[in-house]
Parts: sequence; structure tokens; C-alpha cells
Amino acid sequence: MAERTFIAIKPDGVKRNLIGKIITRFEEKGYKIIGLKLLLPTLEMAEKHYEEHKGKPFYPRLIEYITSGPIVAMVIEGCNVIAEARRMMGATKPEAAEAGTIRFDYAVSQEYNIIHGSDSPASAEREIAIYFKEEELCSDWNTMLEIVTNGK
Ligand code: UDP
Ligand code: MG
Repeated sequence: MAERTFIAIKPDGVKRNLIGKIITRFEEKGYKIIGLKLLLPTLEMAEKHYEEHKGKPFYPRLIEYITSGPIVAMVIEGCNVIAEARRMMGATKPEAAEAGTIRFDYAVSQEYNIIHGSDSPASAEREIAIYFKEEELCSDWNTMLEIVTNGK
């Protein structure tokens, strides 16, 4: 069954010009991008996004990091996308990330690790709602492509 997940290319990924490479991985895997925007997260958005980590030692720096520059916020859709996108990202610590994962390939720090992805259906739903309105998501563009290719 198709699922949706929330992915963010964090400010370090944007600053290092990795937007295209990261989006390409999800496109090539076969997931459908149904929401996409570049934005500077507000403090309120960042605090909502990472509310589960509030009170942890790394929390203040995490909020500073995620609000330090633009992120690319995405909603992608597909079979098992929540778990599979996490697998494609690799473990939080790049040294624990499997070879070939995004974090293995592009990150050297547990803190500045390039990418975020929702870790459960409940997180996905909650996180999507922080960054997107339902009407900003284009779920039905297969029909659109049909119209373009067939001229109907
Ligand atoms: N983080 C950190 N230090 C830690 C753990 C996490 O700076 O000891 C940061 C890191 O950027 C991570 C984010 O906080 O991606 C959220 O942590 P989480 O454990 O949810 O990891 P993720 O789900 O991103 O793999
Ligand atoms: Mg997490």
C-alpha cells in the first residue's frame, strides 16, 4: 500500500549543493515526489518538528542547525516509503550508516548529517502537516501525465 513520508534536506545538504543528488536517489528508486519546497524553517516549525528531542543535550544545537539556512522539504509517496527512505538515508551516525546510504556517502558528523526522514506513520503524518498544507500535495499527477502523453 502506498505510504507518504516527510523528507528534509537539511541546511548543510542545501549549502553543499546536494539537493539534486538527493532528490535523484528517491526519484530513481521509484518514489513519487508529491510535495516539494525550499524554505527557511521558523523557530516554531523547528521546535514542532523536533519536539520529541526537547530537553536532550543536543536539542538547542539541533534547533540552531535546522534554522540556520534553507531546507528542502519534501513529501514522497510509494510502497513502504517510510521505512525504505530511512534505509536509504542510513543510520544517524554516519560511521554506523551502511555503505551506499546517503549519510554514508555525504556526511561525516552525527550532528550535521544532511537529511531527515520520518521514522513512523505517526511521525510522517505529523511532520508533513508542519511543512505542507494538504492542497500543496500533488498526489494525482499520474492522471496529469496521461493527459500530457496522450493528448486527452
Ligand atoms: N542529533 C545530534 N546529536 C545526537 C543525536 C541527534 O546532533 O546525539 C541530531 C542529528 O542531526 C539527528 C537529529 O538530531 O539527525 C535528530 O535525531 P534522531 O535521533 O531523531 O536521528 P534521525 O531520526 O535524524 O536519524
Ligand atoms: Mg528522528
